[in-house]
Amino acid sequence: MKTASFAMVLVFGLLVQPIHAFMTVHTPAAVAQGEVLRVMVLSRAGSVSVVLSGSSARITRAAFPIESDTAETVWVALIGISSVLPTGRYEVRATTEIDSGAYFTAPSSVEVTETAFPVQRVRLSEPMTRLLTTPDPRRDRESRVLNEIINTFRTEAVYEFGPFVHPVPGARETALYGDRRAFVHADGRETSSVHQGWDLAAPTGTPVYAAGAGRVVLAEERIISGNSVVIEHLPGVYGLYYHLERIDVDAGEYVEPGRKIGEVGATGLATGPHLHWEIRVGPVAVEPRIFLSEPLLDIGEIFGIIRQLSQEGR
Ligand SMILES: [Zn+2]
Repeated sequence: MKTASFAMVLVFGLLVQPIHAFMTVHTPAAVAQGEVLRVMVLSRAGSVSVVLSGSSARITRAAFPIESDTAETVWVALIGISSVLPTGRYEVRATTEIDSGAYFTAPSSVEVTETAFPVQRVRLSEPMTRLLTTPDPRRDRESRVLNEIINTFRTEAVYEFGPFVHPVPGARETALYGDRRAFVHADGRETSSVHQGWDLAAPTGTPVYAAGAGRVVLAEERIISGNSVVIEHLPGVYGLYYHLERIDVDAGEYVEPGRKIGEVGATGLATGPHLHWEIRVGPVAVEPRIFLSEPLLDIGEIFGIIRQLSQEGR
């Protein structure tokens, strides 16, 4: 690691201050649309955020500390790469505040690569069209509540590194994450959207399991997503389970992976019984299938990288 990596830039461009071995950043060279970018920071600072910036987007995410045997704290920032984030090169910097000044590390870079997403046409019946298009204060309120939940970042909420267990084993996959959808309304008009989750069809009443450990932060009936459960798995990482026939958990409850949280149904805006399973990393939905085979955070790998960084930093 070059000394330049430790240069700290005082914001507003007034001063460039090298602070040796104060903050070291590790980022992978590439990440694809729909994946999670994992940035590791070795730092003595009391709080760390990571900024991803490119020509058309700038995303700031708080990092959370994880237990380690190093003298400095190991921080991890998980950044959801949306399926519509423009591809190309982005800068990654860690930032912290000291004496009310913000400091940034020199930039590393990451390439956001393209993922091919399928296109689907979905015909909406008259009642479904109404559900989606008629102004409804309840729908707006529910959407505000959910946004508030998924934008909540509690550094202590470290429950599950994964991999996840399948929430409905044996289910038939009916729609994929990132599907570009053209909704054909009852009156023939078309609107488009991007499918944020993974649809798993199974008969009504099939058990739905928590994919990972976590805390239930929402368990209620909603107008579009029907009977819904949201589980906080990591700081800023949430699992969303929609259209359930019934809910078997309460908000505030702690669940283990594989715990039955409800049953498959077709409540809300659904054309047949299925689970819509979604993983949000902050406000961004990412590809849930990845985490059935790969952990959200591979602690062994992280500590390997961290040991390497701390040796290079000396
Ligand atoms: Zn869905």
